[in-house]
Parts: sequence; C-alpha cells; structure tokens
Amino acid sequence: MPTFSNSRLSTYEQCPLKYKYQYIDKIKVEESNTVEAFMGSRVHDALEKLYRDLKLQKHNMLEELLQYYNDQWAKNWTDDIKIVRKDYTAENYRKTGEKCIADYYNKYDPFKERVLGIETVEYVNLDPAGEFKWNVRMDRLDDCGQGRYEIHDYKTGGSLPRQDHMDEDRQLALYSLWVRENFKDAEKVELVWHYLAFDRELRSERTAEQLENLREETLQAVKNVISAKEFPANESNLCNWCEYKNICPKWAHLFKVEALPPKEFKEEDGVRLVDQLADLSTLQKALNEKIEAVKQDLIEYAKMLGVEVVFGSAKKANISMSNDIAFPAKHTDEREELIQLLKREGLWGEVEDLDIFALKKIVHNREWGEDILVRLGKYQEEKATATLRLASLRKEE
Ligand code: SF4
Repeated sequence: MPTFSNSRLSTYEQCPLKYKYQYIDKIKVEESNTVEAFMGSRVHDALEKLYRDLKLQKHNMLEELLQYYNDQWAKNWTDDIKIVRKDYTAENYRKTGEKCIADYYNKYDPFKERVLGIETVEYVNLDPAGEFKWNVRMDRLDDCGQGRYEIHDYKTGGSLPRQDHMDEDRQLALYSLWVRENFKDAEKVELVWHYLAFDRELRSERTAEQLENLREETLQAVKNVISAKEFPANESNLCNWCEYKNICPKWAHLFKVEALPPKEFKEEDGVRLVDQLADLSTLQKALNEKIEAVKQDLIEYAKMLGVEVVFGSAKKANISMSNDIAFPAKHTDEREELIQLLKREGLWGEVEDLDIFALKKIVHNREWGEDILVRLGKYQEEKATATLRLASLRKEE
C-alpha cells in the first residue's frame, strides 16, 4: 500500500486525472518548476539552515542568511522555471523571498525555541493494522516545555487564509497525531503556520477526539482514492500550474494549435468547426428570439379575433389556450411541505417517481453498500454518450 501524503491526497481532490497521470501512470514530465514553488523552496532552505546552524550554536546574522538565500537562488535558478503571472519577473519573486526571511528573522530573533525536529521524515498510521501510512514532514517541531509542543509550517503563498480554514486543515493536524503518539507527555500540540509574505502567524489546535475523527475521515478518503475506477479531469485555475496540461484532454487541443500562424490556426479542423458552431449558435439564438416574438404576436392576434387557428399561405398556426397550475420548485421549503402533506394523507405513492438522476449519482459515487450496488447492476446499461457545450474562453491569469 503506498504511503499517502497530504500533497498526494490533495492532488486527487484537486483533479483526479492529474492524480492518475502523476501517481498511477507515473508519467514523467520535463521538470519545469514554477517560480512560486522555486521561491518557496529557497526560503525553506534558508530557514532550515538558520535552525540547523542554531543547533550547533551558530547564530547567523540576517545578512548572512540573506546571502545564503541569494546564493542558493542563483545556484539553482534555471531559465525553464515558469512564471505564470506575466506581469511579474523573477526579480519580484526573489525580493519577496528576501522580505519573507527578513520579516521572520526580525520577528523571532534571538530564536530561543527548543527545536526537536527540522524537515522531519516520519509517518503516522491511519489504521490500527498500520496498513495505511501517512507521511509526516514537519518544517519544524518545537518543545515548549510542560507537555506543550508546536508544529511549525512556513508558507510563502500570496494569499492569507481565514482562521476557520486553518481550523479545518488536515496536514498539520495529522502531524499532531504523530507528536501525541511519540511524546507521551504531549498535552497540548499547537499548529503554527507562518504566512511569511504577510508577516503573520496563524495558530490552531485539535482535541484528541477531533484528531481521531480526522484519522478516520482521512483513512476513508485514502481508501476511496485507492479504489477509484474513474479519474475525471477537473478543470480549474490550478490547471495553469499543472505539469500535464499538454496531454490533458481539457487542454491538449490548445497546445496543438496555439503555436500555429494565424492563418493555419483559423483553418485547423477543430478551430474551424468550433468557430462554425459558435457562429451558427449565435444565429440560432437570434432566430429563436425572433420566432418567440412572432409567436407572441400570433397569440395576441388570435386572442383579439377570438380564434384558435390562424391561416397563412402554406401553413396554419394552431393556438390552444389553457390555464395551467404550478407547484413549488424542487429543494424549496414549500416543496418539502407539499411532500409531507401528501405522505401524511397516504397519497405520496400515487405521485412519487424514481429519481434516475439521483440514482445515477449514487451509483457513480458508490454511496450505497456493495450488495445493493451489485444487484442494481442487472438494471444498468453502459452507454457511451457525448455532449457538447460551447463556452467562452477562460482568460488565463
Ligand atoms: S490540466 Fe487541469 S484538468 Fe488537466 S490534468 Fe491538470 S489539473 Fe487536471
């Protein structure tokens, strides 16, 4: 059974297809780091050095640490590092990293923490048998004395999450399970995130009960991933940072055509067909609006004359007028009240129907027990379907 990590499970949650490419098919992609990840690694290197040196009684000055950071930046930088946000340069990111380190240094100097671990390589069991393991990679673990421990995580991202997001965070919470299991005096384990670009610290804590629930939920999530049979692509803004964009069915066509000269681009079969469909759809929409307007005029005309049929040269229009009734829409309180009323009156059976859409969703997500799912198989038929929907091009960030 593979050892799971937060990034592995998060990859699946972000996009099952990306998960498949990366962890099942193990498709090798040309190593092309993004500048955000590169800057994050260099800042982590510098803070790791700071604490490793402190363990050996070497207290780096801020200038020395920044020198180390800039040396590492220059040594590791390669021109294929991707800068997705075109309005910024590598220099903007390098300076941001410098500022992250300087703010951190000035805030915590003289670094009196009792550090137990730096960049740990451990794992915690998700199940009692130890079959499912979870990587524990703490940036830093501190012993604060009297049964208090702190797990520290450095973040260099450009957005500051809300406190409730941190109170739900899975990664560090699972690390605290490891701390509780390995330090028997651990009474309080605080989770500390350093949002370096904002010079802010966010903290959270979990009860033993919350941690056990989280362990159970994570185990279930891992089992779902392992047993997954389908890996649909989930398109999102994160696609811009995905290494598999060129082979992903959501983007591969763009990769094939975007470098073509304008004339060839316009003439490429796919581009031509989509453009044709877009033009026709626009015409159809205008035509539908016109048809609707003429229909309304005809209905008014028929009402005025008090007739039900209006004759043209080669066709006639039948107009039937009736009064219809409407009931509350699905998922409203009124709809629920109506259902309850019919149930109380013993009339529900006469109007209820099998919700095929809901049933399909349950079968797809395997929400019911294996036994009933197997028995339902008798009534299912695999059908290949294709749907087509025109959409506006998403503007790249
Ligand atoms: S490009 Fe987007 S949709 Fe495609 S695999 Fe990557 S994350 Fe998924």
